[in-house]
Formats: sequence, structure tokens, C-alpha cells
Amino acid sequence: MSNETMKIPQATAKRLPLYYRFLKNLHSSGKQRVSSAELSEAVKVDSATIRRDFSYFGALGKKGYGYNVNYLLTFFRKTLDQDELTKVALIGVGNLGTAFLNYNFLKNNNTKISCAFDVDTSKMGTMIREVPVFHMDELEKVLVEEEISVAILTVPAPVAQMITDRLVGANVKGILNFTPARLNVPASIRVHHIDLAVELQSLVYFLKHYPTGEIEEVE
Ligand code: ATP
Repeated sequence: MSNETMKIPQATAKRLPLYYRFLKNLHSSGKQRVSSAELSEAVKVDSATIRRDFSYFGALGKKGYGYNVNYLLTFFRKTLDQDELTKVALIGVGNLGTAFLNYNFLKNNNTKISCAFDVDTSKMGTMIREVPVFHMDELEKVLVEEEISVAILTVPAPVAQMITDRLVGANVKGILNFTPARLNVPASIRVHHIDLAVELQSLVYFLKHYPTGEIEEVE
């Protein structure tokens, strides 16, 4: 990411891909400007937050005009490094991992799973949607050769830390962790944790205990 992004608060930075996807759709339908109210309705972020977020990008919406779609798109493309394809490794070609391989991330942004790894020898040498599956023995070699710095973790929780240590050793800088395990990494490594079971449980809890209409924005 460029230095400009460093000044943006992390909560704002997390919303960037959301804004970017919506603006790309607007742009392809020929729209030149958008109001914060329209954006708010589409991305489900309140318009005060959108205005504050956009002020960090130097995009000051004009009353009665809104935001210039082209300006925002250029900014997002540059900030999110969308001109460059980011290659991602996937570790653990089980049910969830296979679903990610079948899901075409490229449709929405410029990230692509370019290799996958597993210990199950029956999966070796196969291709899933043009992505080759390698044995874990080849992990470090392939990651270094392909200069991959981002990995998705879809392995069983008990092996997650051990694999994470290997990823860090192979120069991976960012890990999207889909296992329930909490990972220990050096401060220079970024881990985003998505525990689907916890998310689902929390949704059910909120529905039960906070009637709709009373929902506050949770960042
Ligand atoms: P499946 O039905 O294929 O077992 P699953 O998602 O239910 O899928 P999990 O036990 O969560 O199964 O394992 C996910 C994947 O991680 C499997 O393909 C498994 O072979 C792989 N795996 C297990 N241990 C390791 C490891 N140490 N390194 C890499 N991959 C591993």
C-alpha cells in the first residue's frame, strides 16, 4: 500500500474495498457523481461515517452535487494497488478451501489465489480452477519463488500455528485466518481473523437480544 494509506484510520481502510466495489459498478453504469446518501444506502454505512472517511481521501463532497465518481475511483485504485495483481496462497484444500478456489476473487478486485497447499497426497498435482495444488513439503520453495506475501488459512485449528510459523519464515506478511485458532505472529505480520462459527453465533445473539431498529454500528 502507498504511504498515503498510512494516515487513514484502520476502520476507514477496512471500508475501502467496499466503497471501491460499489463505485466501480456505478462507473460502469455511466454515473459521474454520487451523494453520500446514495452511497450510504448501497454499502450500509451511515452517511456521517462516509463523509468522515472520504474527507481522509481529500474528497470533499459538494452540497447538491455529491462526490465525483472518477476522482474517487482513481484514488481507490491507487491506494488499493489495484493496478498490480496480488498473488495469494491458500493452505488447506478441504471443503472451505475448495470453495474459495472455486470462487473467483478476480471478479471483484485484483487479488488471485495462485497456488494451494495440502498434506493430503490424493490432492497433489491436481488443479482446481487452474490453481495448482502442491504438497506442504513444497510450501517455502513455492512461496519464495512466486514472491507470495499473502496467505489464506483453511486448515484444522490444531495445525494453524505451526503452519503460520512456516508462512512467516517464508516471508508471508498477511494472513487471512479462517480457523478458530488465535495466531501468535511477530508485530510486523498482519492477521485478519474470520471465524465463521463465531460470526454466525454473534448474529443469532444480536437478533435475540437487540431488536432491530436499536442496532448501533459495530466497528
Ligand atoms: P475435508 O472434507 O476435505 O476433510 P474439511 O474442511 O472438513 O475438508 P479439515 O479437517 O478442516 O477438513 O481440513 C481442511 C484441509 O486441511 C484438508 O484438506 C486437510 O487435508 C488439510 N490439512 C490438514 N492438516 C494439514 C496440514 N498440516 N497442512 C496442510 N493442510 C492440512
